[in-house]
Amino acid sequence: MKKASLKDKVCKVIEQNAQRIIDIGTQVWKNPELGYKEYKTAALVEKTWEELGLPFESQLARTGSKALLKGEESKTTVALMGELDAVICPEHPCADTETGAAHSCAHHAQIAALLGAAIGLVRSGVSEHLSGDIAFMAVPAEEPVEMEFRQRLREKGEIGFLGGKQEMIRIGALDDVDMTVMFHSTNNKRNVKAMVGGTSNGFIAKLIKYKGREAHAGSPSGGINALNAAMMGLQGIHAQRETFKDSDCIRIHPIITKGGDLVNIIPADVRLETFVRGKSMKAVMSAARKTNRALKAGAMAVGAEVEIIEIPGFYPRNKNDEILNSIFRSNISALIGEENVDEKGHGAGSSDIGDVMQIMPAVHPYIGGMKGSGHTKERRVVDEYLAYIVSAKSMAMTLIDLLAEGAEKGLQVKAQQGYMSKTEYLDYWSEITEQAGREE
Ligand SMILES: [Zn+2]
Ligand SMILES: [Zn+2]
Repeated sequence: MKKASLKDKVCKVIEQNAQRIIDIGTQVWKNPELGYKEYKTAALVEKTWEELGLPFESQLARTGSKALLKGEESKTTVALMGELDAVICPEHPCADTETGAAHSCAHHAQIAALLGAAIGLVRSGVSEHLSGDIAFMAVPAEEPVEMEFRQRLREKGEIGFLGGKQEMIRIGALDDVDMTVMFHSTNNKRNVKAMVGGTSNGFIAKLIKYKGREAHAGSPSGGINALNAAMMGLQGIHAQRETFKDSDCIRIHPIITKGGDLVNIIPADVRLETFVRGKSMKAVMSAARKTNRALKAGAMAVGAEVEIIEIPGFYPRNKNDEILNSIFRSNISALIGEENVDEKGHGAGSSDIGDVMQIMPAVHPYIGGMKGSGHTKERRVVDEYLAYIVSAKSMAMTLIDLLAEGAEKGLQVKAQQGYMSKTEYLDYWSEITEQAGREE
């Protein structure tokens, strides 16, 4: 059967299930969970796999899930990913009152579209006309946050990376996948409803512990104030900013996660977290060394000690696959009009889809339907149909283009060269993390 009629069939089923898919989006939106703790969201996803009769693997990278839809033949496997996690945004109207988690990055729309695409592809029965398999993957922890919690998991050997897709690579859950398709949601800007292509920053993460000496705050002369050390460290970082090239898009944005124990004790244990982001890993590494120098200078000034724990960040998203890009672009254009689709350009945020792009062809467009900046309390859905249904249809249509008619397009994408092996990828991060901690 031709691609066009398969797409019609799938889109018809998605349309018939539109309210259900919107309800899934709303349910995830109202139950935000932080990375590597997305238990309720994973359960909702897996309930849908069961309903659809899809075999699946559970608890991948702690909370991830991977369901398989087999085609008539298995010439290649395409992963469709959706992210499970939220950010902390306690003032968001939909924030979880206990954890402060909120879907201010709108990953809930990815889950709605992932399940919506699965409903369409399974219920329409098109898989018997596909020459490849689809791995529907709900992935944890795209937001590389709560660094102390994740560092503890790393020390226990439960995870190796901050990012859930990186973990999926590490544990082998992508070993049988040849290419990946996913999207992020975005605001409707300048009448643009979707954006394709573009690049984003990579980063290295740092967990910083200043150790001083406690003293009674009323007689502090014998103490070493770790908060003063930290503040001078932060000022030192700011003093580097004029040395950064605009073209490198460096972003360093530390937070203090612990500023002391009690107000009447000179702080002896002060903790910071930061990313050092940049357009290339070379630029990241240079800025990371300046950051360490500044952090150490703060400690030196007051005689405190500083421990800087280097943690692998994300690779720059610098390799949107051109074939996948053009397939997605033509599908989203057919749904919303090509006048509403634009090129993305560079964004200084980061995503671990950048890491996936180093080992296989992948595509990561942006689809609208949101209002308010990402990671803020203003972020919400203003166009449910665009956010959930158009997203589900455009993802499903892209999968059909790749796998129908003998999977010719999919095989063309798969045949491309120039990717790291999994081992090279893992070695890369060990090396770069070790280098980041080295003196210049
Ligand atoms: Zn995100
Ligand atoms: Zn985000």
